[in-house]
Amino acid sequence: MTNRKLIAGNWKMNGSVGANDLLVRAVLAGLAPAPACTVAVCVPAPYLAQVQMLRANSPLELGAQDVSPHEKGAFTGEVSASMLREFAVRYVIVGHSERRQYHGETDALVADKARAALAAGITPIVCVGETLAERDAGRTEEVVKRQLAAVIHVNGHCISEIVVAYEPVWAIGTGKTASPEQAQHVHAVLRAQLRAATAHPQRVSILYGGSMNAANAASLLAQPDIDGGLVGGAALKEEDFLQIVAAASRCD
Ligand code: PEP
Repeated sequence: MTNRKLIAGNWKMNGSVGANDLLVRAVLAGLAPAPACTVAVCVPAPYLAQVQMLRANSPLELGAQDVSPHEKGAFTGEVSASMLREFAVRYVIVGHSERRQYHGETDALVADKARAALAAGITPIVCVGETLAERDAGRTEEVVKRQLAAVIHVNGHCISEIVVAYEPVWAIGTGKTASPEQAQHVHAVLRAQLRAATAHPQRVSILYGGSMNAANAASLLAQPDIDGGLVGGAALKEEDFLQIVAAASRCD
């Protein structure tokens, strides 16, 4: 049995009240009432309430881009999982390479963020991926396994509830995409690691992210261990995003 595909848009730090309104309405207009894949948009925190209202009674799911590992208290600037939950957030991205790179997030912190999300009933989309230097040094498997191992270590008891996103850092926002074979190889490695950690490794969706677009989505999504996509730039253009959703829907 294969997983229902998941296409999650990562808007990153883009949008405005006006632009969000146009984008979400256009995406909703192009979505089937009951799409054959799950579709989500992960939006900047200030826009959660707006997008929650726009998507009400639609199949579009809401996601956030980060979460505090703490429950509450003196953590100025942070947003807790229970706060996200109040806005009907179903997914939260944790450990995106931009947060690891620009905010010094460690594997241990990412694991704690995943735990906080799970405790609030939110599915963490745990990002893993190697830099170009690590790939060139033949360290891809070692790096992604280390990143996932930290999350398994802390969340082993409910690891089948997470989503993993394999996002090679060299492919994010660069227009360079991993080939379907390169991506499938790493996804199979991650699946094997999950198999050792849970009786339900197939339940974990493993998304590919990194310059996924309307032209390359179908061949990536056709791979046996690629269960969907985490989509950055193309999620900001309704036509491109809807074409990726259509490609995912044809896989089911
Ligand atoms: C991302 O930011 O998660 C991403 C995959 O970006 P892009 O699709 O623009 O490479």
